[in-house]
Amino acid sequence: MKTDDFKKIVLVEAESFDDPGGWVVDQQFMDVMGSPFLLAHGLGKPVANARSTVKFNSIGKYRVWIRTRDWVPPFGPGKFRLHINGSPLEKIFGADGDGSWQWHDCGTVGIKDTSVKLELEDLTGFEGRCDAILFAKSADFIPPNSGEEMMDFRRCLLGLPETPPDAGTFDLVVAGGGYAGLCAAVSAARMGLKVALIHDRPVLGGNASGEVRVGPIGGIDGGLYPHNADIIKELHMTPRGMGGSGGIRSCPDDDFVKAIVKAENNISLFLEMHVYLTEMKDSKIIALRARHIRNSKELRFAAPLFADCTGDASVGYLAGADWRMGREGRDQTGEALAPKKGDGMLMGVSNFWLANHTEHTASFPVCPWALHITEESVDVSTPKHPPKFGQYAYAAGWNWEAGFNDDQIKDAEHVRDHNFRAMYGTWDFLKNRSNDRKLYEKAEFGWAGYIMGKRDTRRLLGDIVLRQQDIMRPEIYPDACVTATWYFDLHFPHPGNTRFFPGQEFRSLAYDDPNFESLRGDIEGSYTKIEPYPIPYRCFYSRNISNLFMAGRNISVTHVALAPVRVMNTTAMMGTVVGRAAYACRRLDVSPRGLYERNLEDLKKVLSDPEGYVS
Ligand SMILES: Cc1cc2nc3c(=O)[nH]c(=O)nc-3n(C[C@H](O)[C@H](O)[C@H](O)COP(=O)(O)OP(=O)(O)OC[C@H]3O[C@@H](n4cnc5c(N)ncnc54)[C@H](O)[C@@H]3O)c2cc1C
Repeated sequence: MKTDDFKKIVLVEAESFDDPGGWVVDQQFMDVMGSPFLLAHGLGKPVANARSTVKFNSIGKYRVWIRTRDWVPPFGPGKFRLHINGSPLEKIFGADGDGSWQWHDCGTVGIKDTSVKLELEDLTGFEGRCDAILFAKSADFIPPNSGEEMMDFRRCLLGLPETPPDAGTFDLVVAGGGYAGLCAAVSAARMGLKVALIHDRPVLGGNASGEVRVGPIGGIDGGLYPHNADIIKELHMTPRGMGGSGGIRSCPDDDFVKAIVKAENNISLFLEMHVYLTEMKDSKIIALRARHIRNSKELRFAAPLFADCTGDASVGYLAGADWRMGREGRDQTGEALAPKKGDGMLMGVSNFWLANHTEHTASFPVCPWALHITEESVDVSTPKHPPKFGQYAYAAGWNWEAGFNDDQIKDAEHVRDHNFRAMYGTWDFLKNRSNDRKLYEKAEFGWAGYIMGKRDTRRLLGDIVLRQQDIMRPEIYPDACVTATWYFDLHFPHPGNTRFFPGQEFRSLAYDDPNFESLRGDIEGSYTKIEPYPIPYRCFYSRNISNLFMAGRNISVTHVALAPVRVMNTTAMMGTVVGRAAYACRRLDVSPRGLYERNLEDLKKVLSDPEGYVS
């Protein structure tokens, strides 16, 4: 397209609306479908309108397009309308697609003033989604919908430069601000490194944040290097809120966690920025590029060292690091808990939900597009039993999980939406069809996460790929450092749920279920605990990207070995070690691998006495 043609087009990114009203910004799938978008996450009640005022270059006739997705075709549960200068367009969106993200033609409008008021009106409260609105002077123009072409087109219209400006000068750039990433940033900063922490949500903590609400567990006392627990202990000094506003287990308060990071002068914190590209030179990362999830502004982060704490190993993947996803076979690793042959099965993704008793009768819409739950397949705590989850009477916890057989990166939106269909289907059943519906009359569906709690996607490969038998043997590696204490906590599709939803399970079974033996069906293996085991440092750097550390669930382990090391007190200590190792690398001018090969004693010193090592 020529520059003049661009002047005849106005692109409005929905996530950049001046006032999102009750809509929320969802960036989780932007690497796949191209952009963050606005989501009407209303639990069945339409959310407040999103509003924005947009400047046009010229008045006249424009053809209007909206990029959206009917997430359960042909039902269109997430319907919404666009208002232009106070008048609704006739067309209803979110209801006429094939399930993919598409531009929908909304016909022609006359624009009489260069200042235009836009409003998105949610009609259902059931996860309607709007990516962008486009006005084109040309009646023939069709906006590109995928790949490089769409990205280039959007970049041009948003006026983004070819190379984003530099964000600053850093020793270490950490991507992902879950427990692992924030501890990596804080520990490195306290040693004196200049650190950039890039995180793609407004709150830190990852799964432990109020957006997901998983409570951190795992032993922190003892171990070879007691100082590994310094930062996690601080995080737990919070008046353990419930992820800010109510949760299943107690998580640290979001503001408290952010304050710990903000107190560090050496950390530049970049919230709501999503890393989407790595600049490479040979096997080294030169810089990361990240895009703001609301205003689309981009920044470049150059540094000698990087840490991938994204959970999905996004940085390593972009950089071409070696990785694995899915289950290794016993024939490959010799692990007793591995299946005979490897496959793509993963532990599932969860979206927690909470509900309570109220003083009033609360209705819930009929959801023909949700999973069809029946007397036989329903599985929730009932009002006949006392509340189990703090102040909540009903909750979906860790064992509501889906996507066991899906690609949880490429098909992540579908997996998350399956969780929505399971929770809404359950509430439709309880309220509208259950034999016990009288008992649920005053129950109200109160909160549900739209941010996925992920357990098990890509794992980057380091110089050691830790296996079950490493963890179970008494000997330890010379670079052993972070102590894992949790058991081999593998999750499987629940055979009881498979009966009703084969291949579409949304409930899981784990080895520690007291009724595991009677429920297990074909599931192999059994409860296997571990003695406290120190994970070696060589699991924390990439074997083929020479300046890339990793911490969190994307470290170098097999699927089986991920099971005990993935809990957050342990991932926090991995981050703490990575931050301190990064300091030693800078001081000695060695790579992460060089630190192990040539300066192992320094690694031990910095972990034993971080403050003493600096002075
Ligand atoms: C439902 C559920 C229950 C669990 N139960 C427990 C439990 O009871 N106790 C426990 O300790 N552990 C539990 N776990 C395991 C634990 O939560 C995870 O293993 C842990 O959160 C992994 O930590 P992490 O820092 O690697 O990733 P995360 O906590 O996922 O944090 C990574 C962060 O990086 C951000 N990010 C990703 N990509 C990018 C990018 N490109 N740019 C910028 N930022 C990015 C993400 O938004 C995310 O918030 C559970 C997990 C789940 C899903």
